Amino acid sequence: MSFSTILQHNNISIQAGQKSSGFISVPGTPVKMPATVIAGEKPGKNILITGGVHGGEYPCIETAIRLAGNLEPSDVRGTVLVIHPVNTPAFLARMQYYGPYDGKNLNRVFPGKATGTVSERIAYTVHQLQQGADFYIDLHGGDIHESLVPFVIYSKVGGEKLAEESKQASAAVGFPYVVGSVSDNGSIGGAATVGVPGFLAELGQCGRWSEEEVHQYMEGIENVLRFLGTLEGEVVENLGVQFMDQMTVLKAQHDGCWYPFKALEEEVKKGEKIGEIRDFFGQVLSEYFAETDGLLLYLVTSLAITEGDPLAAIG
Ligand SMILES: [Zn+2]
Repeated sequence: MSFSTILQHNNISIQAGQKSSGFISVPGTPVKMPATVIAGEKPGKNILITGGVHGGEYPCIETAIRLAGNLEPSDVRGTVLVIHPVNTPAFLARMQYYGPYDGKNLNRVFPGKATGTVSERIAYTVHQLQQGADFYIDLHGGDIHESLVPFVIYSKVGGEKLAEESKQASAAVGFPYVVGSVSDNGSIGGAATVGVPGFLAELGQCGRWSEEEVHQYMEGIENVLRFLGTLEGEVVENLGVQFMDQMTVLKAQHDGCWYPFKALEEEVKKGEKIGEIRDFFGQVLSEYFAETDGLLLYLVTSLAITEGDPLAAIG
């Protein structure tokens, strides 16, 4: 397996001992994804790292840019391909969740379609690269209107062995929580369905980014690269990681104003009220209750809410 067909097609060299940058075009769209390939002299795994599948998640995008800048062929075993960021149109439009061309959430249209809308075509191109990877790392964070505690999601759709491999690598990020997912239309689900292990990491929130967050993100991903044998050095073992089997996401049933009653990382019991949506006259439209015991991993912070959007996740 390799990335070479798509990279050569985009005039990005993939020769052992070299680092090359350029743009990967998404066929049939104006989208060009900035990409850097670091090809080590020694053989090893092919690692695909994507940042900015969602355009408003800044710590992960800056982390992907810096990983592309910092990693050198002399340090790397195998090949690392970094896309920084994937969703350039959404990034430049400062959009949450969606892309400006089709209003679709790129992380809900995997594995994409070669002849689909712009988001579907982006997903399709990324999915082709996933198929050339031995491991896939997708960097996210809280969006412009979301707060969250750092956590890592691994996919369970590729079977038990793949899930276990992904879960162990997820723990190496060093974020406090690791949670399983059975979604098959997101980035890591798309990779898992073709037998590629990986994870989706979440750090940062509310349209902001800081050096501290980028530093924490870089340390976490570099530790994963040591865990995978891509970088040399000792793997830091993270003993404090809490594993969660799955998370449940509460979704808005109405357009309106969102009033959370719980705080981020607060422990909740099944049946406890998490919040409510009211209309512009202050009348309650719908109430939201915890479907399981657990901990609030993320919470929408914006007053504005639209039907179908996530409100909170309990892990
Ligand atoms: Zn995201």
